[in-house]
Amino acid sequence: MLLRVIYIGLICISLSLGISAQVTARLKTLDTELAVQAGPTSPLVNTLGVPGQTPWANQSSESLIGFVEIASRQIPCTWTFNPNASRVDDQRVEFVYDSSSPHLRLTWQWRVRQTYGPVEHQIRIENLEPQEIWIPMQDSLAMRWQIDPQASLQHVYIEKGANTPSPVGTHQVTLTDGYHWTGLSSTYGDLGDEPREIIPWSLVQRDDASQTGWYAGIEFSGRTRISLTREKDSLQATLGLNPDPAPFRTRLEPTEVFESPVVFLGGFQGGPDGAGNVLRRWVRAVLGNPETWNDRNYPWVVNNSWGGGMNINEEVAARMIGEAAELGVDMFHVDAGWFREVGDWYPNPQKFPHGLAVIADEAHKHGLKFGLWVDWTQAGLSTEAGALNARDPKVHDWMVTDLPADWKPEPFKGQTIDLGVPEAKQWAQREVERIVTDYHLDMLEHDGYLVAHGCDRTDHPHAAPDPLNKCIYKSWGSYWVDSSNSTDVSYHAVRAYYDIYSKLRHDHPGLRFEMCNDGGRMIDFGSAAHGDYFSITDTYDPLSNRRAFYDTSHVLPAAMLESYVEKWPVPRIENFRYMLRSGMMGWFTIMLDTSAWSKEQHDVAKQEVSFYKQELRPLIRDANLYHVSARPDGVDWDGIEYWDPEHMRGVVYAFRGSIESERMHSFVLKGVRTSARYQLQFRDHSSPDRVSTGRDLMDRGLTVELAWPNSSEIVSIRQMD
Ligand SMILES: [Zn+2]
Repeated sequence: MLLRVIYIGLICISLSLGISAQVTARLKTLDTELAVQAGPTSPLVNTLGVPGQTPWANQSSESLIGFVEIASRQIPCTWTFNPNASRVDDQRVEFVYDSSSPHLRLTWQWRVRQTYGPVEHQIRIENLEPQEIWIPMQDSLAMRWQIDPQASLQHVYIEKGANTPSPVGTHQVTLTDGYHWTGLSSTYGDLGDEPREIIPWSLVQRDDASQTGWYAGIEFSGRTRISLTREKDSLQATLGLNPDPAPFRTRLEPTEVFESPVVFLGGFQGGPDGAGNVLRRWVRAVLGNPETWNDRNYPWVVNNSWGGGMNINEEVAARMIGEAAELGVDMFHVDAGWFREVGDWYPNPQKFPHGLAVIADEAHKHGLKFGLWVDWTQAGLSTEAGALNARDPKVHDWMVTDLPADWKPEPFKGQTIDLGVPEAKQWAQREVERIVTDYHLDMLEHDGYLVAHGCDRTDHPHAAPDPLNKCIYKSWGSYWVDSSNSTDVSYHAVRAYYDIYSKLRHDHPGLRFEMCNDGGRMIDFGSAAHGDYFSITDTYDPLSNRRAFYDTSHVLPAAMLESYVEKWPVPRIENFRYMLRSGMMGWFTIMLDTSAWSKEQHDVAKQEVSFYKQELRPLIRDANLYHVSARPDGVDWDGIEYWDPEHMRGVVYAFRGSIESERMHSFVLKGVRTSARYQLQFRDHSSPDRVSTGRDLMDRGLTVELAWPNSSEIVSIRQMD
């Protein structure tokens, strides 16, 4: 019997009392309408609606853990909805389920974080027993959508740019009956023989004119997975920690809470770019750091020392600071090569006899920020005071396994420590604090592998490895372990990393964080919530930079996406501009020996930096982004459009690949108004400036003509009426 309906803001709660209490609630943003229900023994998502479209109806309840282990005994859980402890308000639904024996409380939570975009979800399980318990895998979210067996659906997912972007990167595939797909993410990216990692996000779209559907992503950097299965009239989607290698288990001390990785679920229209233009804005507003976005100079333009590799020293730094200031960039960034040894994060006295703070101060005197590369989770063999020495008995146990006697670090890579060990986390917290303070940093870049790849220890907070099923091997200078505890190891280590950066950010509000992690391997929404920008690939030629940007910009704000521009053959000045501009669509870092440039190259670079700061940066920060070509292949033409409807201006980056035969290409634009007229300005005067109608730009397209292969143009667009 329906007793009453209460409206609170956007929420409608229907309370009906029968044999069992049943509560339903709705959460709504401009793009996403979610109906959820608390059943007697488990909750569920009823429907996910996209305004104006047929909602997606879910057929299955959330699957809650069915047992726990106490003192090596499996005890089944019986979950009962607790309406008194549950709460619903205008931003949040929390359905509480209790288990009396074992004594546990589970909270199934949804949160509206913005008036637009997706809704966030998390499951929390609290141990109310007086002793330690072990819980099995609890997925973050599982849904079984009812679908028309005849419906034509598309699945879109995006690879990380880890190592080198693959030839595909952005996958749009037909989701046919029998489709079974799993996408994985960790902090390791490209492991060679395994499928490439995805940015933990997926989109499902109805393959019709409406181009509507839903997408979901994971706000966590540990080992996670998303899977999709289509069978007959159902489409099953599961998101959460990676359950393999099984069996996953994690320990909860008394009063400790397991928190499933936060996931978000949203509806969209207008295809992947329609979804992206809402999601990017949402990531900025909800996950982004307000301090960062309030800085009108974000994203900074950078001059990075890695153009000269490890050969950085005081003299080179002084010269680079002078050149950086002359070029007009915002930050001088010292990459690897400045320290004594791996794990010994003090300036090398031969290279920096006066230390690093004087270099930072010199940069500041020139009006530049100062950034520093540090591999701060890596141990080496230095015996200097303050160094993290893998052989030191006090820290020996932080290594993920006993290192063999002949182990040595590589020049800038050592052994990743397990940050999930409280003492290791404390050391790292103090060490990054010292580095930031002592070296007067404005930006801290973390590289190497921040999160341990498995762990062999039985005395760490995570689960012990399976002694009968574990594999220990060496890769990139570090020892790795694969066993059933790998996901739990990453769960603890990632949470420690988040704590460390949250505190650092709180204590140093002006400090920015670059997430490199060996170039594009840690691109996920948890990192996005704890750092300011990503190195999006570890390969820096123009094509790799454009490919990584094309892929990643589907889901993350362009300002957060850093391209390093490295040396590349540039026989003509047109090729030089093409090289620079291939890295100028998001965060722009120059990683070149600028002292080797000709006068013409220097003048062009200076003009491009100035143009970036004045014209491009505001669009990169604020505008909508459209992928107006196929993914770059280096041969054909490709392009990206920014359009800011509020300021009625935009830009098209046009790239001609190596193709000899096609001097001309038309980019069909999006976002403009058919009835309006637009002033088109060709930055390099490759064509005369002209006026076009919106109709023309969206039908026939913006035509660009370039005389040379591997060249580019930037076309500015202003709405006239
Ligand atoms: Zn460990």
